[in-house]
Amino acid sequence: MSLTRLSVAEASAHVLDGIVPLGTETVALRDALGRVLARDVVSPVTLPPWDNSSMDGFAVHAADVRGARRATPVRLRVVATIAAGMQSDRPVGRGEAVRIMTGAPVPPGIDSVVRVEDTAFTEERVEIRDDRDAGANIRRAGEDVREGATVIGAGTTLMAAHIGVLSSVGCAEPIVHRRPRVAILATGDELVTLDAFDEVRARRRIVSSNSYSLEAAVRAAGGEPVSLGIAPDDPAQLADRLRAAEGCDLIVTSGGVSVGDFDYTRRVVSELGGTLSLWRVRMRPGAPLGFGRLFGAPWIGLPGNPVSALVTFELFGRPLLRTLGGSRRPHRRAVPVTLDEPVELRAPLTHFLRCRLSEGADGTLHARLTGMQSSGMLTSMSSADALLVVPPEPASVESGTVLRALPLDGDLGGTDRPPA
Ligand code: AMP
Ligand code: MG
Repeated sequence: MSLTRLSVAEASAHVLDGIVPLGTETVALRDALGRVLARDVVSPVTLPPWDNSSMDGFAVHAADVRGARRATPVRLRVVATIAAGMQSDRPVGRGEAVRIMTGAPVPPGIDSVVRVEDTAFTEERVEIRDDRDAGANIRRAGEDVREGATVIGAGTTLMAAHIGVLSSVGCAEPIVHRRPRVAILATGDELVTLDAFDEVRARRRIVSSNSYSLEAAVRAAGGEPVSLGIAPDDPAQLADRLRAAEGCDLIVTSGGVSVGDFDYTRRVVSELGGTLSLWRVRMRPGAPLGFGRLFGAPWIGLPGNPVSALVTFELFGRPLLRTLGGSRRPHRRAVPVTLDEPVELRAPLTHFLRCRLSEGADGTLHARLTGMQSSGMLTSMSSADALLVVPPEPASVESGTVLRALPLDGDLGGTDRPPA
């Protein structure tokens, strides 16, 4: 028995139920961008390792410079210069100052660095003309990282700052989760790959765009696509193709999962010993979605329509892939958006409408649909930067209503306006 007509939330919970991250491997830090950390990383060092200056200026005793003003400057004797990379053990006495650069260790006992802009100086003497830096501009040892502290937790997807932190604590080869290997099979007699584009020109076939878009979506989500090509609408050949998915961590098929006369995917999955645990979700696009297990791996049967395939991959395939890949935050974050046009639903299903986001004068995000929402119109997906989530009720949503949207990857999510 399979669960049918679940809500999106129920289907999502079902798909992720029992999914655990794959095994681990080590990668060179330079190749770790986008990978998911599999173990907490603990620092063997304290950072900064020593008290150091956050300014170019003069290391002084606060007590010496308090009350300094342009009209009543304080004069100190310059006894040394310390650059970043030098050591400094020599104590500095009262009435003395040390020329110091940003990042250089502050001498013992020093509690202030007066910025150079507040001074006038020669080799031997410095005149302090303001006391606003008394007690300031020292970065204390350990204020960033303490030895033994966890600096990045397991389950974190590594971005540029994480790579920087890992390098600063000496982690040259982080332990990350293996990338999920994802088998992708398209089904349909009408489909060809790009090398047979002549057939498309001759109007006999269409390109299996799902083969390409899903491969890209898998890569974008951190998976390794394994292309199984196109299976015709014939159970024996479909089974043959699908056998090549054995050993993959996730199996994604597109098409043939509905109720058409030549929709064989569900039947073939079960003939190969697989199970179907979920079929159909109360959403549009994408209602005829199948999910189960095959060859010991999760199988997700996406609908064939190009938009439905991408939207259902986005909602169920991507979180599944990312959970396998170790992410503890596999879902996209929905953001509030104000609708700039009315929306009419033709069925009481949760709708995921292709939309463009823009910033309103009030600084909040606004959404406009990208045009016709037919699930065969892939261009309306390519011109969208988010999916507008419209609940099943009410059927009419007025302009000005605040709904939620799921921003998608890519350039369109950017803006031509600087943030500040
Ligand atoms: P199906 O889910 O097999 O009934 O297919 C639904 C619609 O999606 C049909 O119009 C198919 O031609 C189209 N379709 C199915 N698979 C693909 C694919 N791989 N690439 C592009 N269109 C597809
Ligand atoms: Mg088909």
